[in-house]
Amino acid sequence: MKPLSTITVSSELPGALEPLRELALNLRWTWRRQTADLFRALDADAFTASGENPIAMLSRVSAGRLAEAARDESFLGRMRSEVGDLRTYLESGRWFQRMVPGASASGATATGATGTPSVAYFSMEFGISPTLPIYSGGLGILAGDHLKSASDLGVPLVAIGLLYQWGYFSQSLDRSGWQQENYKHNDPEKLPVEPVHGADGEQLTVAVVLPDGREVTIALWKAQVGRIPLLLLDTNLEVNDEEARQITDRLYGGDHEHRIVQEIVLGIGGVRAVEAFAAATDVPAPTVFHLNEGHAGFSGLERVGRLMQSGAGFSEAVAEVRAGTVFTTHTPVPAGIDRFEADRLRQYLGADDSGISRLIPALPVEAALALGIEEGGDIFNMAQLGFRIAQRSNGVAKLHGAVSRAMFQDLYPGFDVPEVPIGSVTNGVHRRTWTSSVMDDLFKKALGDVDVSSLSDWSALSTLSDHELTEARDTLRESLVTMARSHVRESWLRRGADAAELAWTDHILDPKALTIGFARRVSTYKRLTLMLSDPERFTRILLDPERPVQIVIAGKSHPADRPGKEFLQQLVQFADDHGVRHRIAFLPDYDIAMASVLIAGSDVWLNNPIRPEEASGTSGMKAVLNGGLTFSVSDGWWDEMKDDEAGWTIPTAGVEDQSERDRLEAEALYEILEGRIVPQFYERDARGLQHTWMTTVRSSLVAIAPQITAARMVRDYVTELYLPAARAASAFRSDLSLASTFTAWKADVQAAWSGVRVSAVSLEGAVDRAASSSSESSSRAEITSGAEITSGAEISLVAQVDLAGLRAEDVLVEAVLGAVDAEGEIIDAQLIPLQSEENGRWTARLALSVPGEVGYTVRVTPQHPVLAHRAELGLVATA
Ligand SMILES: *Cc1c(COP(=O)(O)O)cnc(C)c1O
Repeated sequence: MKPLSTITVSSELPGALEPLRELALNLRWTWRRQTADLFRALDADAFTASGENPIAMLSRVSAGRLAEAARDESFLGRMRSEVGDLRTYLESGRWFQRMVPGASASGATATGATGTPSVAYFSMEFGISPTLPIYSGGLGILAGDHLKSASDLGVPLVAIGLLYQWGYFSQSLDRSGWQQENYKHNDPEKLPVEPVHGADGEQLTVAVVLPDGREVTIALWKAQVGRIPLLLLDTNLEVNDEEARQITDRLYGGDHEHRIVQEIVLGIGGVRAVEAFAAATDVPAPTVFHLNEGHAGFSGLERVGRLMQSGAGFSEAVAEVRAGTVFTTHTPVPAGIDRFEADRLRQYLGADDSGISRLIPALPVEAALALGIEEGGDIFNMAQLGFRIAQRSNGVAKLHGAVSRAMFQDLYPGFDVPEVPIGSVTNGVHRRTWTSSVMDDLFKKALGDVDVSSLSDWSALSTLSDHELTEARDTLRESLVTMARSHVRESWLRRGADAAELAWTDHILDPKALTIGFARRVSTYKRLTLMLSDPERFTRILLDPERPVQIVIAGKSHPADRPGKEFLQQLVQFADDHGVRHRIAFLPDYDIAMASVLIAGSDVWLNNPIRPEEASGTSGMKAVLNGGLTFSVSDGWWDEMKDDEAGWTIPTAGVEDQSERDRLEAEALYEILEGRIVPQFYERDARGLQHTWMTTVRSSLVAIAPQITAARMVRDYVTELYLPAARAASAFRSDLSLASTFTAWKADVQAAWSGVRVSAVSLEGAVDRAASSSSESSSRAEITSGAEITSGAEISLVAQVDLAGLRAEDVLVEAVLGAVDAEGEIIDAQLIPLQSEENGRWTARLALSVPGEVGYTVRVTPQHPVLAHRAELGLVATA
């Protein structure tokens, strides 16, 4: 019978248990096992039935059980101890407070004047816990791990994102293996979020204006991630019309139009929200703005508008905003960048008669658009805006940094790729989130009960014995097999199979067999189906009677990605085959909860993207933390950390043709698997232990694990980007004339630059043969091109520089020298500054010690304390 209607009956929390709400509302429980266990102890069934969601669970526990717990001294004791631990965690000084004297633990006094950063971190998605489904994949999980580690390290940071009414879709399959998408409603009541209240006791709101003059009200919610407040913006409010309510409907749904409005809410609404939040609480207003991907680029325009409202000119405002902005790019694939029609944006910014935006008061529309418009004038590029609005920017692995420098070289004409000012901070993963409890116990045993995220020397992990590691790995593999069996059964029920025909699913996979995991978004470049290149060979590997291999696979395809869905179907249909279905399993609906078990249980984590299209990748890092071994193409993070003692690298085939390249790389994959991985996994020593295998596991733990934590990543962001950005921004705030003097200086330099010339460059010094005709005693003879000099000889470089009226301190005059490649280009250039003497003469002393041919030239670039990079203004004069 169908109900006429439904109501929810929920239990009242007894006063004695009120602290449970405090514990439930702070997402720190997601990385503190003891707190999660406390909720499980309250009511294991309700905990599981709620999807391990303490907020949703509390209203489901029966009044009887609550009353019982409220009288249970041992339960109350555990609860108090967890609350005590949480409060200590929130209040005590941590790494950041030790490193930046004067920064308070709460961040409250960490205001701008001293240059101490308080960071606003913008991201379109955050993957913190399955109970807060506002993420789709790697970018979101990275953002979630960033917040958790910033919390652990005490970094004063406020995060800004969107509260979607519908989570990212959950995935199932139809009979033919075609992906089906279902969206689950996010009920704020059941999410670990609270409304942010203003001084009037009402939920805090901000607003943005749409082109037709409609105002969209945006309400603020807050999820508390340890110490870090995550502000979530929500337009689903009664005051808004239906269309406006749909702006924050779902993540990466909808068309360009929808995306633009979402990014306006995130970027522009986000700046307004974080300021309103700071005004309503004791959290300091941010001084550094970190854009995790280009989606929040409009935040920069909003901040330019704000400065202009208080009287700054456009260039002054841009200079100041740049100083405090950090931009992280996440994709080496041009198709991954948000690009909008410039005319559409022009409408949204909405110029009035004098060209000033209606959306962002005081902002001149055309000047703002020029920051992101590509050559040709029709397309507005959010990555380009990111680089123009952020003085500091980075890719997410060393290789990705290099690829980004080449990709965006056009923005810095006149500079070689290595000098394009895009650095890199390699991604990391939050250790406590991604280390299974079994492995965490081993970490504790080897390293002691210290916060290992702050230890860089993890060599004590090498003391873990073969026996301990084998036991841990067996346990983790077994959990994976158990989970896989139930998911495969579940999936077949949804695909229309009868329960009676599914007994086989209880016996798939073997808890003792070599288990390979592969799970990530299904995008073309990640090559989900590479393993199927030679189906016969692959099947032979899986079915080997002595040394079987099993593979567990998961991943969602974007709903609009038809080729992705086709790859998925091809894989599912292969795995459906009766002959192999006990050795290869596809588990639908990959998410954080599944990832934890799947990644931890895999002996080998396979990653075979098309190099260099994987910016970093993080799932392999999670495997490392659990004693899994990496089997990967040399791409993303593995490109810089690969180590033959600690994993296996699939060589990149140097051929242009993609299908030939796939074939060659698949062949290498099979070779390494059959020839090295399988024999090593099944090799036993006299005691029956996998000694060689566990030696590799130990190497991976000792050499790689410490480098791939999000703690290392956040520390790098703080020291390399946040602190310099905070200092740069504070220079503008403490010297109100800096913006105008810098802008005037920049205009002068730009006007004079075409006249700047390096006219004569020569080397002088002791000469071997070439200058033997000159007088014997001449130690300062000119060295002609092609001459030979003795290694270590003291020589001077002299250049005549015409500064076209600029002062010596306005420029950097440098010798660029290094080996010369086949194209006649200087490679691995060394930069040596020249000193100004009189009459435009500049000199430097060189000591050339490495034998071989050396090429050199002299160049001039602008120099000013506000500039962070030589290439920033795109001005260079070379001899
Ligand atoms: C870690 C993780 C990802 C990202 O994996 P990549 O290796 O970076 O592709 C995606 N989804 C989930 C659920 C994850 O846990």
